[in-house]
Amino acid sequence: MGSIRIRELTKKYGDVAAVDGISMDIDDGEFLVLLGPSGCGKTTLLRMIAGLLGPTSGSILLDDVDITDAPSRQRDVAMVFQNYALYPHLSVQKNLAFPLRVRRTDKAEIEERVRDAAGQLDIDHLLDRKPKELSGGQRQRVAVGRAIVRNPRAFLMDEPLSNLDAKLRTATRRELGALHRRLGATFVYVTHDQVEAMTMATRIALLDGGKVEQIGTPEEVYDRPASVFVAGFLGSPPMNLLDGDVAADSERVVVDAPGVRAPLWHGETERRDVVLGVRPEHLRIAEPDDEVRFDAVVDLLENLGSEEIAHCVVGETGTTLSFRGRRPTGLHVGAHVVLTADLTDLHLFDRTSGRRLD
Ligand code: ATP
Repeated sequence: MGSIRIRELTKKYGDVAAVDGISMDIDDGEFLVLLGPSGCGKTTLLRMIAGLLGPTSGSILLDDVDITDAPSRQRDVAMVFQNYALYPHLSVQKNLAFPLRVRRTDKAEIEERVRDAAGQLDIDHLLDRKPKELSGGQRQRVAVGRAIVRNPRAFLMDEPLSNLDAKLRTATRRELGALHRRLGATFVYVTHDQVEAMTMATRIALLDGGKVEQIGTPEEVYDRPASVFVAGFLGSPPMNLLDGDVAADSERVVVDAPGVRAPLWHGETERRDVVLGVRPEHLRIAEPDDEVRFDAVVDLLENLGSEEIAHCVVGETGTTLSFRGRRPTGLHVGAHVVLTADLTDLHLFDRTSGRRLD
């Protein structure tokens, strides 16, 4: 078991709330990714779950037991740090055994658990080496191994892949996903890398300014972002966001902005300021009878190999719009282009609150 309930958790430094009244339920066996920009409070939240930092207020429950005031060593959770925090003078074997020795686990059991963890992570041939005799990827495995031997209720990981090069990071990402499925344990994982979040998470909690902006499956947060912040954080390039007005025009609600016309849905609405969102991959070159129209001029083309990104300027306001299409798109810098998208691929947000409208 390893369910974690967080209730109104706050951590203040002076007047600044690094974590600002966060509540969330993490189910047993979830791979919950805490995602967000630098300084949004991810690490602070994780360290409070680990017991390395005391909250200013609020509570944390592990399997329905309040652990808010329990010291770190009494919590049945294991942390994997960004810098791995291995003991440099100890061999891999002794690094792996360390958490069990501290708990005075029986010697035979220590040996068995170390052997098992080393086998799972393919580091059995490295047991006699010291950390300095290992590559970055091998050190990372030892750090994960040291968490596995404890068989904790939850694994807490703080950017564990950030010190690996791009290729190794991709491979290790897959391995961590497979490890999670094999162990069936709860993982809480901090990253600012949206690809890690999208590929590994069962759910993503997107944080900004110490608060949860949205929590949901990768599909939910990508396909139906709850706010302008979420829309602009996810995606590469992220969602295009254009300011406009919405008003009832005959029987339709229409977003009007310079160079943009997007009849959205039937119905009445009050006139209000909105932000219209559309993902670069959902745009295409318009046909004459397409109703949704973005009038733009190509400003820059980026060749990604199989695809091309056209960065365009819409209308006279200088608002930019990225269009992602299969290469060759047939566009060139300076070309006038009319882009369109399916109505179901348009997102509407209130400009004042930033929240999603439909
Ligand atoms: P990063 O991705 O850069 O590690 P993060 O999302 O993990 O960022 P935190 O480290 O949790 O962010 O920090 C959240 C906020 O709290 C930041 O504004 C940070 O400056 C502040 N903060 C963190 N630790 C302290 C501290 N010991 N004293 C004062 N302010 C702190």
